[in-house]
Parts: sequence; C-alpha cells; structure tokens
Amino acid sequence: MDKLKLRSGTNIYNDSDYYNAVHWNYREFTEFPVKLLRECNPVTDLYLKENRIEKLPRDIACVFFVGKLYLDGNNIRAFPVEMCRLPYLTHLDMSGNLLITIPEEICQLTNLQTLILDDNQLRWLPISLQNMTNLKELSVNDNSLYWFPQKIGSNYYSSSVRFWRNRTLHHVPFALWLHVLNDSQLPVAEKLCRLDDLEWSSYAGESLKNTVRIGRSQMELVIPQQFHQIEQCASGSPASLLELCLRRCYIIYYRVLKADAPRHEDENNNEIDKMPNWISRTMQFGPTAFCDVSHCNCPLFGYAVLAVCVRDVDNESGRILATAFFCSKSCCEFWKRVYNTEPLEWTLTR
Ligand SMILES: [Zn+2]
Repeated sequence: MDKLKLRSGTNIYNDSDYYNAVHWNYREFTEFPVKLLRECNPVTDLYLKENRIEKLPRDIACVFFVGKLYLDGNNIRAFPVEMCRLPYLTHLDMSGNLLITIPEEICQLTNLQTLILDDNQLRWLPISLQNMTNLKELSVNDNSLYWFPQKIGSNYYSSSVRFWRNRTLHHVPFALWLHVLNDSQLPVAEKLCRLDDLEWSSYAGESLKNTVRIGRSQMELVIPQQFHQIEQCASGSPASLLELCLRRCYIIYYRVLKADAPRHEDENNNEIDKMPNWISRTMQFGPTAFCDVSHCNCPLFGYAVLAVCVRDVDNESGRILATAFFCSKSCCEFWKRVYNTEPLEWTLTR
C-alpha cells in the first residue's frame, strides 16, 4: 500500500496536480511490463502503443491509479476482467488489437469516458454499456459487429458513437439511427448524403443494397434494412416482443405517473427503483419517437417503419422536408391513405 501514498503522505488523487505519464511506445515489449511499472511512482497516463504485447496480466492492478491507458497497436487477444477494476480509468484505447469480446464487467469502469476499440475482431458489444453513464465517446469502427446495444451510456444523444465499416451489421437501433440523423441541424437529405461520404453504404455492406429513389431528383438514399418494409412488406419483420413490451410498459408507466405523481411522488419513485435498472432508465428517458398516426401515437423504442415523403422534396435544393415514423406497416398504410390524397412518389428499389 506504500504506493498509494506520495511524499506528503496523501492519497495521490487528493492532489489534483499529480501527474505521472510513462511513454513506452514502440519499445518492442512482448509482455505488459509489470515489473518495470512496480518500480515507478503511481502512473496516471500509460502509453504502450505499438508494442508486441499479446496478453494483459491478471495483476494489471499494478497500475491501479492509471487514468489514461493506451494499448493500441499490440496483439492483445483478450480483455481481462481484472482490467474492469481500475477505478480511475477515464480513457482506454485498445484499437488495432485482436479482441473478440469485451466482458460485461466493463460497466464497473464507472469513470470511463472514452473507449476506443477500432480495428479489432469484435462481434458483439456488452449490453452493460448502457449502464456506463459517464461514457461520452465510443469508437468501434472496423470490427465484425452483428449487433449494437439499444443505448450507450445515458442515451445516444449524450455520447459520440462511431461504428463505420462493420460489414456484418445489418440493423442499428432506431435511437442510434435517429441520433446520426439529428447530429446537426442540416436537412435530412443532406445528412444522408453526408453519411454516404462517410462510407455508410460500405459500412452496410452487401446486406443493405436497398435504396430509396427520390422521385425526379433521382437521389438514392441508403436506408438501414430494418426500415425497408415500407412498400414491399412481405419480407418485413414485425416489431420484436421486447419492443411491444416496452411500448406497453411505457403507456402504463406514463398513465400511472401522470395520474399519481402529484400525490405520491416518492412512492412512485420507489416503484421505478424496483424495475430492472435498464428498463427503469428506458422508461424515464421515454421513447425515441411516437407513431405519426395521430390516433395511434404509439411510443417507438427500437423499431420503426420509416416513410420519406417525396412530394415535399424541395426540387431546387434537393432537400427532403418530411419524414414520418410509424409503429407498423399498417399504420404507415393508413397514414398514406387518409392523410395524403395523392400517393407518395417514392419507390423502394433493389
Ligand atoms: Zn401506429
């Protein structure tokens, strides 16, 4: 425990000026240098980029006080659970390694703000990422992801998420997709074109060949597959059971809260606390959108049917001025029949 104390005898993290960076990039280390690190004063920033480390040690707590850890460009195959017990870690870069999975225990890194995992072989991300409320930046470009969590940290709106060139990723959560669209105040079409610049289509790979052709302007917008079932619904999948449960839960939750909150505020909060953490947070943040059919107005969480209204395309600028989201194909069809005297001019092409 001597290392927890410095000259003054105080805990180093009571001393905000304490900073000890160790730069050991390009040293051709084949092992994590535990022995050398034990001889150092407590390290706050550790640079071990571009070495040849294959394995992280179980006693990685030898860098207990590390805040920023750079391990990019090594040959590390596994993310040890012990690494989830570094309480001061705020920044972790493990890009350019050979990681296949990240343990669910990563959510124990409650101070982690930046997590860079580009260029690994990840197929899944831990669902516990949604409990990491301080995570502000997640980068998982160039992996082999099949699946993306419904939420990152508090929500996608308070985090920066990069996930390009995961060719096996067929679906992104509605919340993430909206977040990408809402990233700036630009009109929708411009945003989608901008996504194309960012290799949206190559990220999507062969699985997302469907495009929406925008009438006279002949623009092709690449739309994530889960939103394809607008016109050719035969192959379209319905909302998942989880999605239907979340919608129902939210309606009940909202009614109860609205009816009782003024009288029994504390009791209601207790009820919320009894729900599983991620559900209670989902309920409190609410849905990403609501069905645009006014008599339905169903809350939408991870599943939506998207309509792009071509009639409202501004031909001069090519901007799309209207999009609408629906809880189901039938609501989309209803909206098109009732609220639009002319059929929408969009087509779904293969
Ligand atoms: Zn609906």
